Amino acid sequence: MNSALVDASPARPCATPPALPSRLPNVGTTIFTTMSALAQKHGAVNLGQGFPDFAGDPALLEHVAAAMRSGHNQYPPMAGVPALRQAVAQKIARLYGRQYDPDTEVTITAGATQGILTAVLCAVRPGDEVIVLEPCYDSYAPAIELAGGTVVRVALTPRHFRPDFAAIAVAFTPRTRAIIVNTPHNPGAVVWTRAEMQALADLLAPTEVLLIADEVYEHMVFDGQPHVSAACLPELARRAFVISSFGKTFHVTGWKVGHVTAPAALMAEFRKVHQFNVFTVHTPTQHGLAQYLANPEPYLTLPAFYQRKRDHFRAGLQRTRLKAMPSEGTYFQSVDYSAVSALGEADFCRWLTETVGVAAIPLSAFYEDGREQGLVRLCFAKRDETLDEGLARLARL
Ligand code: PMP
Ligand code: GLN
Repeated sequence: MNSALVDASPARPCATPPALPSRLPNVGTTIFTTMSALAQKHGAVNLGQGFPDFAGDPALLEHVAAAMRSGHNQYPPMAGVPALRQAVAQKIARLYGRQYDPDTEVTITAGATQGILTAVLCAVRPGDEVIVLEPCYDSYAPAIELAGGTVVRVALTPRHFRPDFAAIAVAFTPRTRAIIVNTPHNPGAVVWTRAEMQALADLLAPTEVLLIADEVYEHMVFDGQPHVSAACLPELARRAFVISSFGKTFHVTGWKVGHVTAPAALMAEFRKVHQFNVFTVHTPTQHGLAQYLANPEPYLTLPAFYQRKRDHFRAGLQRTRLKAMPSEGTYFQSVDYSAVSALGEADFCRWLTETVGVAAIPLSAFYEDGREQGLVRLCFAKRDETLDEGLARLARL
């Protein structure tokens, strides 16, 4: 070792940094992180943060490992590995009847979160308004604020979380640049019907407003209902960035790989931001996913897989004093706890985690104004043993 490079004095922390006015003054640690940490601290069954506690398909893991071993370890093309973009375009064409050009209309992203941020950054300018439908995923508003846009919040119907098109219509102004729609919906577990997607199309038709369609739970839809993607309707597809996540579909949320599809002119702008945002996404994972997608069975059987878990979980909830709200899609189930406690949602979740040993997420965390509806969200993407242990604890309430 070259001793001239080694500072023999003890390491010290940095001195006071320059003042940095926050770009996101209202942002703290997300509720998902907070509740997972609390669950860990108290040994609670974690039905809070949405992630499976079971492994992904060994075949998928093997495809990725094989890609790594066979040397797919350098930068891929900026937009994503061509085989994966082709597989995504084929899947969308088969399922939703829309042909996206893999060369110009499909981009592989570092999870849906980056897809959403990049779509917002390329679309939204200071002064633009973006409509979000609350309750909504926590990354939407910060993304809009980072772009200098104004968040315009419209509530989905109380406790049922269906779109209220009269209320949405009122929110449009000449400054509206985009609307973000999430179906299947986290946390409401609602799946927009074809009629609702058509109503959205009718509302948008006279405008040039863009649509950011967050469809990360596209393969978790129950009771035979279809997922109606924005890609299905011409009036929506022509203005939409459609976003999905392999993490959700293949039980590998930590991989953070997703995809965005959009008409070429929109995708060209998306890629300008993507190029200097992440440039590219983990190469061997993309090769592995491309191979794995050749078999449609894993995603075609996902609705049945999660429907069984949902039904098992809901049957167990009937033995508790919690009231299960409908769950049409996603891996979430909201419950009304008013028979059990008069606490506010966040306090109830804290109490439930610390005292009963089950972590949940307050619905109020998905609203800017933190409104209370006596509802908390539970995640059933868990092994049956985990669900049963959680249910046994909840039955003591
Ligand atoms: N949108 C919604 C509605 C989500 O629930 C999630 C998952 N937390 C995401 C986007 C982000 O997905 P990813 O983990 O692929 O970034
Ligand atoms: N989407 C996941 C949820 O809703 C959490 C993702 C995260 O931790 N940011 O629980």
